[in-house]
Amino acid sequence: MALTGMDIFKQLPKTNCGDCGIPTCLAFAMKLAAGGASLEQCPHVSEEAKALLSEASAPPMRGVTIGEGEYALKIGEELVMHRHEKTFFNPPGLALLVEDTEDGVAVDAKLAALKEATYERVGQTLRADLVAVKNSSGDANTFSDMVKRVMAGIPYPLVLMADAAAIDAAMSAAGPAKPLLYAATAGNLDAMAELAKKYGAPLAVKPASLDELAELTTKLDGMGLKDLVIDMGTRTLKETFQNLVFTRRLALKKKQRPFGYPTITFPAEETADDMMETVHAAVYTIKYGGLMVLKDLSPEKAYALYVLRQNIYTDPQRPMQVDQGVYPINNPTEDSPFLITTNFSLTYFIVSSEVEGSKMPAWLGIVDVDGLSTLTAWAAGKFVPERIAAFVNKSDILDRIKHKTVVIPGYVAQISGELEEELQGWKIVVGPREAADIPAFLKSFQPATA
Ligand code: SF4
Repeated sequence: MALTGMDIFKQLPKTNCGDCGIPTCLAFAMKLAAGGASLEQCPHVSEEAKALLSEASAPPMRGVTIGEGEYALKIGEELVMHRHEKTFFNPPGLALLVEDTEDGVAVDAKLAALKEATYERVGQTLRADLVAVKNSSGDANTFSDMVKRVMAGIPYPLVLMADAAAIDAAMSAAGPAKPLLYAATAGNLDAMAELAKKYGAPLAVKPASLDELAELTTKLDGMGLKDLVIDMGTRTLKETFQNLVFTRRLALKKKQRPFGYPTITFPAEETADDMMETVHAAVYTIKYGGLMVLKDLSPEKAYALYVLRQNIYTDPQRPMQVDQGVYPINNPTEDSPFLITTNFSLTYFIVSSEVEGSKMPAWLGIVDVDGLSTLTAWAAGKFVPERIAAFVNKSDILDRIKHKTVVIPGYVAQISGELEEELQGWKIVVGPREAADIPAFLKSFQPATA
């Protein structure tokens, strides 16, 4: 059972030094109990208290990583029921199902298409995350061969769906890095637990009921296996959705550790209709799937799921931002124009893609205004002459250009006079209001050299 704020407070130094960023030990204890602070924030807590408090400081849902290296996927470690309360942290994984009874050449084509369906959207890469290989043939060698084939075709982490003996054979033959082993049940718990330990891999748990889930995860935890993923075993949209909500509540609201693991769902096994499969995956993306296994991730369906996932897992309280700085576009020189705008991601990507599309070289200065768009940032007193001048003076732009002309967005034309006063020696040029007019502007604009 999780500790209360008062339990935690008793273990703290009670000096109210504020080094944790919170004024008092009591306030820190309350925040820690609510999952809003981390024990590492207090540098004065004793080792003994640390050990005692580890339960309280652990997230109510464990984070589990599948795979290794560049393509590793972390799921879970969520802190809130609703996105508007804070944010959702680790986007759920989308996995393509491959059965070892499928034709090898067709599987190669499916994997090539999956790899190809990778998109860039507002600075993020959207793609599938895993491949689930299922031992439908019942033959261990056929399964091993398919695992090898999938590994040769795509670098994504795997979910290995087979009995313990077939998984062991595939792991020995192909050696995928930390795949998710699927699945431990009441009937095979010891064998699957042994495998998970042997390969240091995360393990899926498939109970027959909620009560059995608590029993199995508690037992596995006692065996030292912490990286668990829950499959409630239901295969209808309604039941799966109910279980996802129920286990999330038990983990986050009731702080019940046996339920504090991410989940795996199987839209692929819930419907034969490809379109409905996408709908099921969309519902679980919204609430609260950790992994979704689908048999069809063709581009038109996959893209809709990728964008939905990206939007759900964007912090609603924090606009998407790019880093402040000077960005070269189309190999600019010391004579190229210098434009500035704000660090709202959408603004940056719209402006930079218009500059890029114009084929005209330019320097794009991005001012940190807490991720607001141009007009909103100006209205909020953030995209203002003092801040813009401070950015220009601190940047290395004068090492890159030999003129002193800066182009500001047309929407903030009213600041040009004041900016000229702040930026002594600079010429302020008012650019277009709309990004779509940037290419025509750049083609006719030449910064004046001193
Ligand atoms: S840093 Fe530790 S001792 Fe200092 S106020 Fe925070 S919790 Fe208390």
